[in-house]
Amino acid sequence: MNRLIIDHSGAVTIPAAVLDKLGLQPDDAVNVETNGTELVLRKAIPAAVPSLQQSIARKNLTVGMQFIKGIGPKLAELLAKRDIRTVEDALFCLPHRYEDRRSLVPIRQLKPGVSQVFQGTVMSANGVTTKGGRKVFEVLVQDDSGSMLLKWFHANAVWMQRTWKVGRRGVFTGEVTSFGFQREVHHPDVEWLEEGADVQAVMAADPVNFGRIVPVYPLTEGLHQKSMRKVMRQVVDGFLDNVENVLPTSLLSPHGYLPLREALGQVHLPPAEAQLADLNEGRTPAHRSLAFDEFFYWELGQALKKRGIALEEGIAFQVTHRYTKELARLLPFQLTAAQRRVLAEIKEDMMAPHPMHRLVQGDVGSGKTLVALMAALVAVENGYQVAIMAPTEILAEQHWHNIHHWCEQLGVSVVLLTAGLKGAAKKEALAQVADGRAAIVIGTHAVIQDKVEFQRLGLGIVDEQHRFGVLQRGILKKKGTNPDILVMTATPIPRTLAMTLFGDLSLSVIDELPPGRTPIDTKIYFESRRNQVYDLIRSEVAQERQVYVIYPLVEESEKSDLKAASQMAEHLQLEIFPGLRVGLLHGRLKPEEKEAVMASFKNRELDILVATTVIEVGIDVPNATLMVIEHSERFGLSQLHQLRGRVGRGAHRSRCILLTPGKLSEDGERRLRVMESTSDGFRIAEADLEIRGPGDFLGTRQSGMPDFRVASILRDGLILEQARQAACGLLEHDGALASSEGQRIKAELIRRWGTRLELAGVA
Ligand code: ADP
Ligand code: MG
Repeated sequence: MNRLIIDHSGAVTIPAAVLDKLGLQPDDAVNVETNGTELVLRKAIPAAVPSLQQSIARKNLTVGMQFIKGIGPKLAELLAKRDIRTVEDALFCLPHRYEDRRSLVPIRQLKPGVSQVFQGTVMSANGVTTKGGRKVFEVLVQDDSGSMLLKWFHANAVWMQRTWKVGRRGVFTGEVTSFGFQREVHHPDVEWLEEGADVQAVMAADPVNFGRIVPVYPLTEGLHQKSMRKVMRQVVDGFLDNVENVLPTSLLSPHGYLPLREALGQVHLPPAEAQLADLNEGRTPAHRSLAFDEFFYWELGQALKKRGIALEEGIAFQVTHRYTKELARLLPFQLTAAQRRVLAEIKEDMMAPHPMHRLVQGDVGSGKTLVALMAALVAVENGYQVAIMAPTEILAEQHWHNIHHWCEQLGVSVVLLTAGLKGAAKKEALAQVADGRAAIVIGTHAVIQDKVEFQRLGLGIVDEQHRFGVLQRGILKKKGTNPDILVMTATPIPRTLAMTLFGDLSLSVIDELPPGRTPIDTKIYFESRRNQVYDLIRSEVAQERQVYVIYPLVEESEKSDLKAASQMAEHLQLEIFPGLRVGLLHGRLKPEEKEAVMASFKNRELDILVATTVIEVGIDVPNATLMVIEHSERFGLSQLHQLRGRVGRGAHRSRCILLTPGKLSEDGERRLRVMESTSDGFRIAEADLEIRGPGDFLGTRQSGMPDFRVASILRDGLILEQARQAACGLLEHDGALASSEGQRIKAELIRRWGTRLELAGVA
């Protein structure tokens, strides 16, 4: 019989008779294809197959998982669902927890709260239904020291009954739960023992699953822990030696970090002395070393970028004070000390002959707009144009209103570009920008990016509010010849996070509010007290004040939220406050319509403004003193803080009510209580970050947040700092990464982050 044998690595064994017929040599590589009914053998292009075989032989880390012995297409597909496609992916897929399976524990001595291994004989096994109607499968197992109740919820009773036969012996792994005297183990792992088998011998024969602290990997449906553990063990045994230790010990040893290879080995196969708790919290030397490795490359990339910018030629502005002094004279107030300090930092950057790249952080109402305007005027004094980009139309308009007001008195021309601008008006506005008649140009990110040509752009100001985009800065830069860039954000970003995200920017913080602001009194109200909230609204309006009622906008269903907001407006107008004037503002209105609604609220033609979160950005109505936020539990804390900043802008005492349905999770309530207890944006941001994690905090994907595989910005702040210092230290010695060590590090950096950091061009 001429039967082919194909193994999982794709190698084919072909009988000599077949070889002959096909005119193949024994060493020829062969492609095996099927046309549906039969297999077709073709001589492969020599380079293709051998390179894969060579890769496997050389243990190249980019080898696909399906080529590893024992991994068939089905398993490879399951692994791919967890983003494990190559050996390298697998090596960096870390256990999400660990179990201590170093020794068998007698049933009597099992401690609650930790996973342990015990053995026993099945004494009884029954499906039962609890008083509450829950179906539970219960098994009693026993060893020499005592017995233990095992329980499964939602198990298939027929299948369980077949497996869990009385008298059968097994090794079980699980965590004891105790209810008073009752101790039980839910959903344990089981390893069945053959009749008469010696437990210790069985365990010794399976070093992957027993006799050590074993890793527990994240799984996906259909992928079992045991097969995953086996796969991972194979990868570690077969490929770990080929992980290159790129970072030299001179960078690692000052902080006691391990080389990458050792660290990776230890997280998959913890050494005998490892502490279970440290492993589970990701605090072992191995985990910390991996975090350092990860942070190091990221910080190195950021530092290189920053150095690259610092070396670029830019505009050396001169501070002539022509307009800035005049503006300071016109203002009805003094700049705060923080505003002055930040302005000085900006001016210093602007005077330097290299492009500025500076981030200004300032809480809502801290007066960023004025600082931005002052910086803009410095550029204008030097005969340059300024672009101010805002995330939304409403905010762009608001900036225009504020800035135009002062610039008119100074004789500086300001142009507002909106998406709604049409025909001749649009042509004229663009012409003014192109020929330099417009000194300051304000618009949304989109508008300025798309259509605008500047005559002489010298400064780009990006108002990010709480959105972060690395891209926008880049595009803006290309609108001029290395203009200065100033990024403003109203989200107080905790320091570690700012360092990570904006390592290539210098940071200024306006950490002081203008005097005379009264803190906003914030209270959580549960749904049951809604009528009291309505009374509060009435009494506020009776004192001639105005009120915001905010509706959340959940991304998936903008439509239905809109419906909720407009229904609410209608309900409030018709049924609750028939005598008051209720308006509605949402993102789907045309710009003119939004403008009209805002104008009538500002002019006190409306008492209550029902709005979606479009209100969040920059609206300034000092007479509005009460904000009611519906479904406040759906918002991020930083967002609530932004929203709340819309009141308390005048001299009157202001209030913010966080309405929420009756039930909140413990975390949910803890989160909202933070809003009651502080008005410090930084503290709120840190609490938010702590409770929700960095991804959620920044609103995920769009945020520009690097997705670290091991490192956690929350847990590993100190390591991040060390990594940053190590990266900067390296560049001080070897700024071009030209040494042989530097070259290897650079190659690895480009491999890991090249596209992300736009680093390919870094010299
Ligand atoms: P931000 O953009 O930081 O939220 P704004 O720039 O909109 O804050 O400023 C909020 C309000 O405070 C504006 O009405 C502004 O005119 C006013 N303001 C800014 N700086 C000062 C200051 N130094 N003293 C008093 N009021 C100020
Ligand atoms: Mg503002």
